[in-house]
Amino acid sequence: EGFLPFEHEPYFAFGQPEVAERQRAAYRAVREKYVGREFPLYIGGRAVEGEGTFEVRNPADTREVVWRFPKATPEQREEAIRCAGEAFEDWRFSDPLQRATIFKRAAELLRARRMEFNAVMGLENGKNWAEADGEVAECVDHFEVFARETLKWAQGNAVYPMPDEHVTTVYEPLGVVVTISPWNFPAAIPLGMSLGAIAAGNTVIWKPASETPLSSLLMVELLYEAGLPRGVIQFLTGTDEVLGDSLVDHRDVRMIAFTGSKEIGCRIYERAAKVQPGQRWLKRVIAEMGGKDPTVVCADGDIDAAALGIVQSAFGYAGQKCSACSRVIAEESVYDELLEKVVRLAGELKVGSPEENGAIGPVIHAGSAERIMGYIERGKQTARLVLGGERAEMGEAEGGYVQPTIFADVDPKDPLFQEEIFGPVLSFTKARDWEHAIALANDSEYGLTAAFYSRDPRKIEEARRRIHVGNLYVNRKCTGALSGTHAFGGYGMSGTNAKVGGPDYLFWFVQTKTVAQKY
Ligand code: GLU
Repeated sequence: EGFLPFEHEPYFAFGQPEVAERQRAAYRAVREKYVGREFPLYIGGRAVEGEGTFEVRNPADTREVVWRFPKATPEQREEAIRCAGEAFEDWRFSDPLQRATIFKRAAELLRARRMEFNAVMGLENGKNWAEADGEVAECVDHFEVFARETLKWAQGNAVYPMPDEHVTTVYEPLGVVVTISPWNFPAAIPLGMSLGAIAAGNTVIWKPASETPLSSLLMVELLYEAGLPRGVIQFLTGTDEVLGDSLVDHRDVRMIAFTGSKEIGCRIYERAAKVQPGQRWLKRVIAEMGGKDPTVVCADGDIDAAALGIVQSAFGYAGQKCSACSRVIAEESVYDELLEKVVRLAGELKVGSPEENGAIGPVIHAGSAERIMGYIERGKQTARLVLGGERAEMGEAEGGYVQPTIFADVDPKDPLFQEEIFGPVLSFTKARDWEHAIALANDSEYGLTAAFYSRDPRKIEEARRRIHVGNLYVNRKCTGALSGTHAFGGYGMSGTNAKVGGPDYLFWFVQTKTVAQKY
């Protein structure tokens, strides 16, 4: 429809002093504009207060409260679901071109404010400049991709014709979609799920993680500003008592789109299966959960490239990505060389404040740091610690700083090899040969991402066929999926494989109507 060819949003070159200075200025402006403020809920298009508020703290120094968000009441939850249902009656019939135009406009608005959004994210979830920038650029891509997907899916699909009937297959929206999202990608993940919903003509209850609500709220307000009818998204923050099971269980909710832990994802999947009194559909659930993502390095692979990819994907954002590399599986003959290179590179990473663009920032909160240290302490008994293994200090700051940590000679039965740690902890395991390495890579209940390094076409072909993951990366790192290009989502206990950013994603948010007409 006259759109220009798609291009991924380029990243900022923070290495250039003037670009870095702009990011610093954006931090100053964000501190002035937002810190100390209290933000609203949005229900039925109106900004409203809740009953009391909760604090959002800066993970870089948890003594600092950055902003406050409302605790929604049970009445507000009910009201939000009612409003979403009402708004659906209009939005379901909205013109796909209108939807696409809103998304295009949102992309434009966001391009002008990326540094501001980076700074907000840094202050609430501890991403450094580059990590935040990657995510905000992904949001621009999401807007551009969903604009196109909206139009594509509005076309319906072709059927084999009948001589005496006119038959069409069209996609219709479902209804009220609840999106529940994590703190580690506080803008791109809820945005991807919510755009999926509204691009297809559904309305949304947007429930962000309590650690990171502002990165979400700014996206919602951006969509409003771009012309989205306000009732299409209800934005709710608050306690799990009010916005947990009771949202999932609600009779009038048609679908739940979830990204987060395996534990919560399984809980939602189970609960949503129960048909409530008066409920007139079977709820749909999509869930993206954890990962225990391997990097396989064959003896013939580029060891330097592998070492760099491993360090970036294991320790970027302190390993708090479900796509993060947490297991290295290397062939015996290159194991020591690779380990030494990875340890050297990782040893150069300095723990530092995200606001100053430190390489390794804090983990999200104290509880998280404790959980990670639990794995590390147990790992010291069962494997060979070769780097880190302690908390890190950041001057006066109180935050969950954990040193980049590497264990060697990890047994495949060890929790270090099997359980998602969600922190800067990497395990090395030796494989007899490359086929054994592939088998070890698959020895996991998860199946989200994997990286495979080799120069041998035959091995690569086998890896493509046999590695059991939703996102396989050959000769590159396993993080950083780009919307529109690397449809993202896993196998096994990594989730329902909905594949956000991919060509089939909208199918999850629609039902299909066949109409056969005789003349
Ligand atoms: N899409 C992100 C990536 O490819 C990961 C999302 C997540 O960690 O939840 O790195």
